[in-house]
Order: sequence, then structure tokens, then C-alpha cells
Amino acid sequence: MTRLDEVRGGLARSRVPLTALPTPLHRLPRFSAAVGAEIWIKRDDAAPLALAGNKVRKLEQILGDARDRGCDVLLAQGAPISNVTRATAAAAAAAGLGAVLVLAGREPETTSGNLLLSGIVGARLRFTGVQATDGPDYWGALGAATRQVERELIAEGRRPYPMPVGCSSPRGVLGFVAAYAELLDQLHEAGCRADVVYHPSSSAGTHAGLTLGRRLAGHGPRVRGVLVADVYDDLEERLASLIREACGLLGGSPVTPEFDIDHGHLGPAYGEATQEALDAIVLLARTEGVMCDPVYTGKALAALIADVRAGREGPCIFWHTGGVQGVFEPRYARALWDHIAPRLNAR
Ligand SMILES: *Cc1c(COP(=O)(O)O)cnc(C)c1O
Repeated sequence: MTRLDEVRGGLARSRVPLTALPTPLHRLPRFSAAVGAEIWIKRDDAAPLALAGNKVRKLEQILGDARDRGCDVLLAQGAPISNVTRATAAAAAAAGLGAVLVLAGREPETTSGNLLLSGIVGARLRFTGVQATDGPDYWGALGAATRQVERELIAEGRRPYPMPVGCSSPRGVLGFVAAYAELLDQLHEAGCRADVVYHPSSSAGTHAGLTLGRRLAGHGPRVRGVLVADVYDDLEERLASLIREACGLLGGSPVTPEFDIDHGHLGPAYGEATQEALDAIVLLARTEGVMCDPVYTGKALAALIADVRAGREGPCIFWHTGGVQGVFEPRYARALWDHIAPRLNAR
């Protein structure tokens, strides 16, 4: 019995179920042939809660914390197109809680994707006017606006739960510790011998959880986080501190795993599509009919393809973290359309 086996039961009990687990794991036969190694996919994009994605696993644990603290409204901040605000809004609806989203920018004239979904599931939307182009002050300004809304909610007699950035608190990380145990079960059952998991990484919670899960198991595929955003100046320190605190919640002695971070596929910035990501999206879609997005999953898949084709990796698992609706944002739809236009009828 591994340490991961020992903590599993507790993790199942501290979870507020929002989705059907396990998410599917399956081979990608035609994509594997195209890239030259056996590739499997873990489908966190395929789950019942409002287009799902990786935030749901973290939310299941965070909602347990919100419940324990008697909170009645989730307070999240982010970009209007962000997956985390939409997932928080949907989780609140499913759990019978309120949700207030403190959003960058102004209310747009037309809405699509996550913002539209957040409105449909009933979140209150507060536009701050804070622009991403405001540079380093962006998160600070958004945080200040969020604290203001928090005071207003308390004055109204509500009990707000301020959501951690990207749902990546130590409690949220536990959702991905459990996810690694889930993966090991599926690999065993499927007879899959993949060496490494690729996933997109931004606020570090997914990476910390999977890495800690592997460390507690003492075996299983390595975990490689492909950086798609520059959220932290010292990412390794952030990962280490999340893991330290998550170990504290699990009640064991802290462990200090090594981290495997791919810095080579961010491109110019968070949210800027790269040619390699667009190529990766098109290749997976045309070989398997599975969609990715240009901000997160497309970049992680591009990293996987580059490593396999260069002979650096063999059998891999691609952890699909969701966010496919990103392709409908006008600028990404344009970039993808321009990318495929020359080849549209070339089959
Ligand atoms: C938030 C997000 C990620 C990154 O997960 P973190 O835990 O924040 O690193 C990856 N993919 C998608 C689709 C996301 O929305």
C-alpha cells in the first residue's frame, strides 16, 4: 500500500462531487501513427459540468473548504474569457451557492465563450475596467477590486469565499493528487506503459497536484508541465510551497519532489497563439476528431509532439485540461481560420 493509497479515502470524503470520475483515458491510434509513438489522452475536457476542464477537480476540493467555512457565495477574479471564472460560476450553480465574478476590462458589446456561459449559469458579473495591458499592476488592480466587492458582500450580510487565483490553493491541489491516483488505476487496467504526462501549466495547481501524487505513489509516469503563462517570478518556489502546504493538509511529513517544467512553448506571451500550437490543434483534430485550444492545450500538445518527433520521449499521456471553447473567441477563430485556409480543400 503506497502513501497515495492511504490518503485516497480522505480525499474522496473531502470532495464535493461536481463531475463524473474517472474521466476517460484512451489511446489515440491515428495521432500516434502520425507522431511516431504511442500516445494516450486523459479527457478532463469530457465531463458533465458546463464544459468542464481541469478547474473542476480543484473546485471539488475548494467547495469542501467553502462548505466547512459556511460560505454562501464564491468570489472569483479573472479575464472575461477565463476558464476559471466560468468553472467557478458553474460549480456555484451546481452546489446551490452564489457566484460573483470580478472581471478585467469593460462589458463587451458581444459575448461568446466563457463569459456568455458565466452569465447563463447565473453569476453576477462585475467589470472593473482593469486592462491586461496595464502590465504588472494587472493582478494587483484586479485583487484590489475583488477585495472591494468582498467588503460589499459582507456588508450585504453574505459570506463570500475568495477564490484563489486559478483555483490553485493547497486545497485545490488535492484534487490533482487524487487525479494521479485515478490515472494509475486506469493505466493499470488498460495495460498502458506511458513514461510521461504532458499538461498545460499556468497557476501551478495542476502541476503541483500531479507531481505530489506521483511522489506519494512512488511510481508511475513522470509529470511535465508545459508553461503557457508567466504567472509567477519563481515558479519552482510556488510549486514547492503549494506542495508543502498540501502535505500539511494531508497530515504527513512534507516531501520535496523535483519539477519538470517545459519553458519552450509559451511563445510571445500568455494567450498569444503560436504556429506550433495551431499545427498541433489541426493535427489532433484531423487524426482523431478531438479539439484543443490555442491558449492552453494546443501549446502543451505542441511540446509533446516536438519531444516525440525529436526522439526525446516515447509513449506519452496528454492530459487534456479543457477550454476548447477558446477557439470561438474572435481572435483565435481568426488565427485558426487563417491557419487552415490554405489547406481547407487539400485532402
Ligand atoms: C487553468 C487551465 C490550465 C492550467 O492549470 P493550472 O492548474 O492553473 O496550472 C490548463 N488548461 C486549461 C484549459 C485551463 O483552463
